Amino acid sequence: TKELSMTSNTLRDADLSYVLHPYTNLVAHETKGPLIAVRGEGVRVFDETGRDYIEGMAGLWCASLGFNEPRLVEAATRQMKELPFFHMFSHKSHAPGIELSQALIERAPVPMARVFFANSGSEANDTALKMIWYYNNAVGRPEKKKVIARQRAYHGVTVASASLTCLPANHRDFDLPIARILHTGSPQYYREGLPGESEDEFARRRARELEELILAEGPETVAAFFAEPVMGAGGVILPPGRYFEYIQEVLRKYDILFVADEVICGFGRTGQYWGSQTYDLKPDILTCAKALSSAYLPISAVLVNEKVYQALRTNSGKIGTFGHGYTYSAHPVSAAVALETLRLYDERDILSNVARSGARLQARLRALADHPLVGDARGIGLIGALEMVKDKASHASFEPTLAVGPRIVERAQEHGVILRAMAADAIAFSPPLIISEAEVDDMMDRFERALNDVA
Ligand code: PLP
Repeated sequence: TKELSMTSNTLRDADLSYVLHPYTNLVAHETKGPLIAVRGEGVRVFDETGRDYIEGMAGLWCASLGFNEPRLVEAATRQMKELPFFHMFSHKSHAPGIELSQALIERAPVPMARVFFANSGSEANDTALKMIWYYNNAVGRPEKKKVIARQRAYHGVTVASASLTCLPANHRDFDLPIARILHTGSPQYYREGLPGESEDEFARRRARELEELILAEGPETVAAFFAEPVMGAGGVILPPGRYFEYIQEVLRKYDILFVADEVICGFGRTGQYWGSQTYDLKPDILTCAKALSSAYLPISAVLVNEKVYQALRTNSGKIGTFGHGYTYSAHPVSAAVALETLRLYDERDILSNVARSGARLQARLRALADHPLVGDARGIGLIGALEMVKDKASHASFEPTLAVGPRIVERAQEHGVILRAMAADAIAFSPPLIISEAEVDDMMDRFERALNDVA
């Protein structure tokens, strides 16, 4: 109706006048304008004209239970009415925060001792890094402070977590990374494997390079290694072969803490409850967020093992406090929603759905491997990517300004599916974990129309 479209034009104008969009080309936005979503239903969102879009990214790899789960609304409402805010500083506590801590410890992939809450993945990784520095001071190794992450990693955007991140746009002109944060090679065999090198040889080489970096820096100065089980924003990169086995061997050898960033992988994305289970990781610290609350409210968590916890405990006793915490650490409403989210994963056996619909997604992605623009079709569980190339034989990419991923993603939106173009011209798929096999087919049919438009 006229009234509706006026409202939407007003909104559009106001968006252009007032909003500074995150992760957006601010110049291009002035002509492209926003996609304004007004409601959600299952795996779909609707714009103000009533058009539906399958959310092929679950928002930002996060809305795992889809876009209108009444149980989460009820959990939030109940908690809002009962106790909308309390905190956990200075010996205060509340039931949702306590129960969620216990639920996470019970579900952890390796024995963990305590849970600390923050509001975002970035804050969780920032917290992990501060804990690592504090830990090494506590155990009398003040020189052991350097932290290694990987090229193409994504760990967030706060000053420290953006420094762990290793994608060009997150460093360039932000004057990052900060000191004491180093990067080693990415695990992407498809792009970085040498001619004639097997996947396993490549994995061994990456572990050897990590060891060389540690030795060059001095093992007594290297505190920790951060890794996503499956790299997300870097282009959905799966660890090749026995990669993590070799990497963890090196870390153990030099007494280096291992932080698993489960912000995307946690809670079923890769087919098991944790990416750490899928790839047999034994982290000392685990960070998670996103699907922890199905994204209905912001909350993240840092799980620490007994060794780390004991050092934090002792040092806080000496100093007089563990001097770290956010006003909204364990916000009771977020915690109540997260707790209900974990209950829903159990009740609905979400892992079985990931097995079924994930198999469908992986088959549909692999079926596109022969397409002239598709260099690599990859994924596991309900996460995947197609890496677009100019030349299939040499794996050569298009020049960044000619990248086809962003164009396909734009067309896909017109065909009713929301996806994301990632680093290295990869298109990512990460739908809500509740997606059915039929909806996977619908999503991929819509996507293929877009691919054929551009091809
Ligand atoms: N770690 C990983 C693996 C992520 O994918 C993200 C976000 O996409 C983050 C950390 C940062 O989380 P947030 O955006 O909630 O700060």
